[in-house]
Amino acid sequence: MCNILAIVNAGMLVKGVIFRLESDLPSEAKFLLEDFRLAVNNAIRAGLQAHVTSRNALVKIAYKDFRREHARMYSQHLVSAFEVAGSVLKNHRARIRKCVTSRVPYVKRLMMKAENQAFKLDRKTGIIDLPIRAGCHVELRLIASQYHRKYLDDITLSLGSLTVLPDRVIVAFRKDAPKPFVPESALSLDTNERSLDGVFVESDVAKAIKVEFPQVAIIQQRHHDRRKRLQKKKAHDRRTSRNLCRREGAREHHRIDYRLHQVANSVLKFAEEKKSAIVLEDLRGMRPKRNKELNRRLSVWPRRKLHQIIEYKAQWKGIPVVKVDPRNSSRTCPICGRIQDSRKGTEFACECGWHLDRHINASMNLLQTAISKGMAGGLRFDPGAFQHDAMMTLYAPSRDARSEPNGTSGIVGVT
Ligand SMILES: [Zn+2]
Repeated sequence: MCNILAIVNAGMLVKGVIFRLESDLPSEAKFLLEDFRLAVNNAIRAGLQAHVTSRNALVKIAYKDFRREHARMYSQHLVSAFEVAGSVLKNHRARIRKCVTSRVPYVKRLMMKAENQAFKLDRKTGIIDLPIRAGCHVELRLIASQYHRKYLDDITLSLGSLTVLPDRVIVAFRKDAPKPFVPESALSLDTNERSLDGVFVESDVAKAIKVEFPQVAIIQQRHHDRRKRLQKKKAHDRRTSRNLCRREGAREHHRIDYRLHQVANSVLKFAEEKKSAIVLEDLRGMRPKRNKELNRRLSVWPRRKLHQIIEYKAQWKGIPVVKVDPRNSSRTCPICGRIQDSRKGTEFACECGWHLDRHINASMNLLQTAISKGMAGGLRFDPGAFQHDAMMTLYAPSRDARSEPNGTSGIVGVT
């Protein structure tokens, strides 16, 4: 699971920041990772047997036995192992409830998580002091780039948990959610397979906006084809086929994720500069279609994911985001209110003489819905003020944008 930012409790935001280490993990820390994984998996088993999932219940039933078995482990780490086991068990239970077949869960990758009382981070030097057991501590030296410094030096951010992986660590930074600013303009975006299309409204001017991500659909298509080929080729060996497909899936996710983050950043930078409220359609209602082919082509997840990224980054920066019901937004005329039967073609043309790119037209309707419901502050919008010839492109990737660093997105928790 990839939750870079999660809302812990009312108004508290958390962001996991990945750090590389100056040198390899000390061997004591490596042993700790193995011990921790063992403890988590034991706790999962104990939880399954006793049908409990909460950390406290796990502590109650298993702490004493664990203290004996893992006598050398720092006790706070042990409690943290129960915490991790609890979240694995909760996911497992949710999958069973949804009737998704779920095998007995266990944690495969080496990891450990320490709560913020269980380690010390010197934010100036970037050195973590991690206790292993009584009398034994290790030092982890973080490599801090400019990006990392932003978080280390910001004293309004408090420290959350630390996740240690064999080749990197993730430090959680926390802050109170800032109060969203009062918008002075609005950026309304209709989310499509290859782009966000919309209008930007500021005082009396409305302009068309485009944010392109053509690569996302191409990557999805390419990986889909490759997966199909793999399945055919390895039809006699289901286990290998499954493993290869899973790897393909992870790679696809990673590559799409990277692009979606770039798109979101361009939108947020613009909204921050212009003090815009961001208006998006609520995608929750979108149901997958029956037809398999169509279903894949219109796969909603990159769009949902994009919204997720925009929403949590906006929350972090205090940019207001408004979600509106997209019903009929692509078929309604913003001038006279007529609703058309079809939504075919790239151009929306109404009997009243209004015509516009269908996607941009849809975003206008989203904006009008938001304004009519009073969700966009005191903003007003007159479709007549729309400048047909002005188009702003917030983001368009160059054709051969092949450079993508590894590990751009944070991974907190276990999968
Ligand atoms: Zn009309």
